[in-house]
Amino acid sequence: MADQYAVIGLGRFGISIANKLFESGQEVLGIDVNEEKVEDSHPYVTHSVIADSTDAEALKSVGIRNFDTVIVAIGNDIQASILSVLLLKEQGVKKVIAKALNKLHGQVLKKVGADWVVFPDWDMGIRVAHQLLSPNVLNFIELSKDYSVEEVKIPEKMVYKTLRELDLRSEYNINVIAIRHDNEIDISPSADKKIDHGDVLVVIGENRDLERFANLE
Ligand code: ATP
Repeated sequence: MADQYAVIGLGRFGISIANKLFESGQEVLGIDVNEEKVEDSHPYVTHSVIADSTDAEALKSVGIRNFDTVIVAIGNDIQASILSVLLLKEQGVKKVIAKALNKLHGQVLKKVGADWVVFPDWDMGIRVAHQLLSPNVLNFIELSKDYSVEEVKIPEKMVYKTLRELDLRSEYNINVIAIRHDNEIDISPSADKKIDHGDVLVVIGENRDLERFANLE
């Protein structure tokens, strides 16, 4: 069965989350105080309603506690975002995700019960800087301060070699967990797998080793 999500605040951030969930077959209720935002959201959500999430009664009347996850995508009105998280947790929503504009806002959201606080501007800034520093890295997930998983464009000099010949484990101290070519993905590729033009390696390792590998010409 599809999970039930509610997204409060149908600005660019809220709509982008709602749309991705909806496209993946999940049930998404969009909520906004602004009638126009609610109307514009129709193509991107299962249903949408006009409601003020700082009003406990309004939240009750949309049956908010029946949703598995509620995303508070209100940013600029910090007071409304904090109050909304507080009410959602009071009404028993299990998982509340909230967008923070800055560190202090994030700390308060955590204090009032947000299960996960996201900092979209900050995170995107890090992504852009990362991309500038390592243009071969298409995507990355930080596993901890020191370790990451990265998608790295294969350097030309490695094309037509097998994973065994490249021996990235001893040369760079990193492990290849998958190879992607366009939309095809080979998970746990064999040592005899030959690297082709346009291949992207999904590698895991320590950040300084990954950086050395990703900056090869
Ligand atoms: P984005 O940066 O995501 O485009 P934005 O700049 O449009 O957002 P925000 O202040 O972050 O503005 O608000 C996002 C949405 O949240 C707006 O559409 C706004 O109408 C809605 N919103 C603000 N307060 C409430 C509230 N109390 N209840 C429901 N929706 C709200």
